[in-house]
Amino acid sequence: MLSNDLASETDRGVEARLASGGGVVVELPGDADWRAVGEQIGSAVQVDIRFASFKDGRGFTLATQLRTRLHYQGRLRATGDLIPDQARYLKRVGFDAITPDRSDLAADWAKAGQQFSVVYQPANDAVATITDLRHRDGDELTRLNARYRQSDALEILRDAIETTWRGRIALLSSFGTEAAVSLHLISRIDPATPVFFLDTGRHFAQTEQYLRTMTERLKLTGLRVLKPDTAEAREEDADGYLWQRDADACCALRKVRPLARALEGFDALVTGRKRFHGGARTELPVVERVADGLRVNPLANWSAEQIQAYFQTHDLPRHPLADMGYSSIGCWTCTAPAYGGGGLRAGRWPGQDKTECGIHAPAQGAAVRPERE
Ligand code: SF4
Repeated sequence: MLSNDLASETDRGVEARLASGGGVVVELPGDADWRAVGEQIGSAVQVDIRFASFKDGRGFTLATQLRTRLHYQGRLRATGDLIPDQARYLKRVGFDAITPDRSDLAADWAKAGQQFSVVYQPANDAVATITDLRHRDGDELTRLNARYRQSDALEILRDAIETTWRGRIALLSSFGTEAAVSLHLISRIDPATPVFFLDTGRHFAQTEQYLRTMTERLKLTGLRVLKPDTAEAREEDADGYLWQRDADACCALRKVRPLARALEGFDALVTGRKRFHGGARTELPVVERVADGLRVNPLANWSAEQIQAYFQTHDLPRHPLADMGYSSIGCWTCTAPAYGGGGLRAGRWPGQDKTECGIHAPAQGAAVRPERE
């Protein structure tokens, strides 16, 4: 059995607690339903998630849900059929350690393990916990938000793209009803800025047409279309109806994991989210740390009226569905016109409690929220 060196120090901390009767280890299969395990993992000092196959991504989804939905802070270990290429992504979704079944890839795992340098629980070692790191960069976020408080959206983006995260920043666009504003702003700075679009395979034809219209009109050359992993999709959504059975798992497969993979090599991602969208966005800062990195939200404090004024000033094309009652547009399977009030995003996942797809899930633990600008 293998275990990377950094994790082995933490192993000793967990084992010491187990020896003193301080907790239990819970084993879960990768396809366990996170909603059913909250009580089971409540007192666990360690949760082992077993991957039946390295091609089966459900263990990643389960780890993400334990960290983001159940706020599990104990040690999370991946076991089973894993390959070294997965090390970085295992870390991203919140695993502290890996114990793969195969023992013939020790050198590759050791190399990958050198990047596996953060843990969730403190132990008798010098490895910084996620909470330690978050406190450290909280100061940096506060400084950036204070600086950007005096700037307009174009100035924020210009600094982010040309200076602060030069070459390490991308824009995420849904090519939805308000997307033209962010796209137009970056086209004024650098039309080659990477633009990520999550191709879930469930978009309205009108959205795909709008994507072509906007990229041609603004001469954007950095478009990157992100698709779900084919093997994972075959494994997890063989009948194509995962969105009906488990929308969180579907978003993890088609949005969260493709974006996490694309973010390798990037330090920050620009979004078009605004506070007036309501819900979890009401307190949105301009710069924030989320589970998989930094988000820059230059339009955070824009109003609906400012958005409309920007469209008119720059004569920007509208999404073809905007005049049909669709105020926020995602996959056709999970989007309805927002008639009858309830806010701009009322038509997303109609009839469900779900309000966000999970790509901007907050960092776990004692998140440091920068001062509101
Ligand atoms: S919005 Fe719906 S169809 Fe699209 S990825 Fe999420 S659950 Fe799946």
